[in-house]
Amino acid sequence: MHNAAFEALGLDYKYLAFDVKPEMLRKGVEAIKALQILGVNVTLPHKEKVVRYLDQLSPEARLIGAVNTIEHREGHLIGHNTDGLGFIRAFQETFGLSVEGKRVLLLGAGGAARAVAMQLVGEGVSEVIIANRTYARARRVVKAIGESFPGTSALAIRLQSESLEKICSRADILINATSIGMVSDKPLPIGPMVFRPSMLICDLAYNPPFTPFLKMASQAGCKTMNGVGMLLHQGAQAFRIWLGQEAPLSIMRAALEQVL
Ligand code: NAP
Repeated sequence: MHNAAFEALGLDYKYLAFDVKPEMLRKGVEAIKALQILGVNVTLPHKEKVVRYLDQLSPEARLIGAVNTIEHREGHLIGHNTDGLGFIRAFQETFGLSVEGKRVLLLGAGGAARAVAMQLVGEGVSEVIIANRTYARARRVVKAIGESFPGTSALAIRLQSESLEKICSRADILINATSIGMVSDKPLPIGPMVFRPSMLICDLAYNPPFTPFLKMASQAGCKTMNGVGMLLHQGAQAFRIWLGQEAPLSIMRAALEQVL
């Protein structure tokens, strides 16, 4: 999608993918300076570890503790995180609603879940419950929310908890931020009876675009959103950071849809 944007705007840039091994991460980051690369995106499994090799962090990246976009300014590397903003832009575009005052149940406590949780809390949700397979990780996200947004009601539970379905059914927004559905074919521990048609259901996965989780929600009459919009908007925000100009959204969206 970035290459389509560069081409449409006549910009002499290329977006390339590099597979960086974990033990080569520091050298990979140093190469940004050596090769005078304008900026990079960082993805799994480097989003958190890359922080230690950067010169500066944006307020969002510091809050989230993870970086998905690096800006290179004259030998100075600045880490940003555009995932949370990408999610909220996609949410508003899809549902035409604000998240303010809503009760949210977030499944997962990885990098994406943390970015989305911080953004949602910053946007004024009334309650956020984080359910994760590894309970300690959910607790860490809740602790970080408490430190930065002391007024927000936040709770950590186990994904396998017996009370999950009960908690599910009182949420206004239910988000799957686990990698189940994208890289794993294991089912989520949620049955179809928890979905009420008034709930807004999101899955951060974008491949396949219609995950089993979204199918189940849609069959129950819920409005749904997959991760394609978030992918588009986090990328558009990265484009703005690198180039200081608006991204051509419709061109990037068309390129993305063609690939997916
Ligand atoms: P991550 O940091 O590796 O976190 C993975 C999450 O999934 C953790 O909460 C993990 O739980 C959970 N999980 C994995 N396998 C599981 C299983 N078998 N049973 C239960 N829980 C399981 O990954 P991430 O970066 O947060 O990404 C999460 C998802 O969001 C992925 O599908 C990714 O593609 C998607 N994503 C989408 C966008 C977008 O732009 N649309 C952006 C970023 C990420 P544990 O903590 O217990 O391991």
